[in-house]
Amino acid sequence: MTVRVRIAPSPTGNLHIGTARTAVFNWLFARHEGGQFILRIEDTDEERSKPEFTENILSGLRWLGMDWDEGPFFQSQRLDLYRQAIQTLLDKGRAYRAYDTPAELDAMREAQKAKNQAPRYDNRHRDLTPDQQADFEAEGRPAVIRFKIDDSRTITWNDLVRGPVTWQASDLGGDMVVARASSASTIGQPLYNLAVVVDDIDMAITHVIRGEDHIANTAKQILLYEALGAAVPAFAHTPLILNQTGQKLSKRDGVTSISDFQNMGFVAPALANYMTLLGWSAPDAAEQFTLDEAAQQFSFDRVNKAGAKFDWDKLDWLNSQYLHSMEPAALLKLAQPYLKNAGYALTDADHSWLLPLVALLGPSLTRLTDIVEQSRFFFTETVDFTDDAKAQVQLDGVAAVLEGVLTELTETSPVTTDDLKALVNNVTKAQGVKKGLVMKSMRAALMGALQGPDLMDSWLILRQRGFDVARLKGALALT
Ligand code: GLU
Repeated sequence: MTVRVRIAPSPTGNLHIGTARTAVFNWLFARHEGGQFILRIEDTDEERSKPEFTENILSGLRWLGMDWDEGPFFQSQRLDLYRQAIQTLLDKGRAYRAYDTPAELDAMREAQKAKNQAPRYDNRHRDLTPDQQADFEAEGRPAVIRFKIDDSRTITWNDLVRGPVTWQASDLGGDMVVARASSASTIGQPLYNLAVVVDDIDMAITHVIRGEDHIANTAKQILLYEALGAAVPAFAHTPLILNQTGQKLSKRDGVTSISDFQNMGFVAPALANYMTLLGWSAPDAAEQFTLDEAAQQFSFDRVNKAGAKFDWDKLDWLNSQYLHSMEPAALLKLAQPYLKNAGYALTDADHSWLLPLVALLGPSLTRLTDIVEQSRFFFTETVDFTDDAKAQVQLDGVAAVLEGVLTELTETSPVTTDDLKALVNNVTKAQGVKKGLVMKSMRAALMGALQGPDLMDSWLILRQRGFDVARLKGALALT
């Protein structure tokens, strides 16, 4: 048997972290088993589905590195298939048209509420006579099509994550609507549970891996597989993603979509790596790995039942690991959009100093966005001074040191950090001061601060930019 799994997002919002994590588990399982990963867009909700959300979902999955083998298939293009299946259910006597008005359904629910009963459809139109049906049609009532649920059934499956799961059919809310707005001769809009089952049968899905919020749907869907005479696939329900206080991660937690994480400066391999850890752990307890490496080791035995707490510190840590080990050219490519967004003017000609800049700053980044602040002083000819940097350049003897450096700069034209080190040594000797004083004063003069990245590397970049002389003159003006 070839394993075939699918991710089936609804394009009613951007690619959600929960959907993306479910996609990761599907992908890992497919790749582990040498199977296929299929992408299906569940866009039957015409009002809420939007093409821009589909675009966001596709680009998010691609960005994370989850290539799919088939699709994207769009449910909106497959409505005939669902209608055929509904017709089959009608023909077999497994479904029927129900003509209840919204007011009648409300009254039914109110009565149930008054008796402290759970809301459910009481199957009152299950056995309408042809005459009753004709009367409702004559009244112009639209019908829904309901699938018969046998309340005496117990539904069980052996969930790959949760073990045996049991549902009483009597808890499923009565006969289930599978199509809306139908008439005696037409079948209206097919609904979610039916469409999913028809697609999963048609696409020969062997394992349905999805969030645990779908457990009740699974019970209903198993009944549909049986009624349609199809083999029931295996099910794996993955744990919810929780925030720090143990609630389901939601918009209130600030970010929910993959593009939010992207905008916050997380890189794809780090986020994909982190999502793998949301509910799964590697047998060797490794925490940093590629999706391919995780796929080699993936199994449902190591997926937790309990909700997975979202841990920002761990995500930041992983992101920093990826950023710190990245080649400067790759890092520059990723950092450029953030620099441009911050309004820094960049041209291709700038690569000669941008590459050393990202090589310098890469090891201190946690998120790509950090580069905006950390590189700010490389983008302006002059710099504002912090109070302690100003105090440093105003110390006795510092003006002479800075003048000495300025003279040496014009006389020796340094082009490497070794040249700059030699220059510092010369000035130190000539001025008869401590080297520490020269270094600290140069840092204050060039960066306007007493903290920052490596002095010599920074200086060389400022020199390439043609900014170092202006900075030294600016510092001298303060003395
Ligand atoms: N369209 C459903 C969702 O976005 C997924 C259903 C499924 O995986 O069966 O939650």
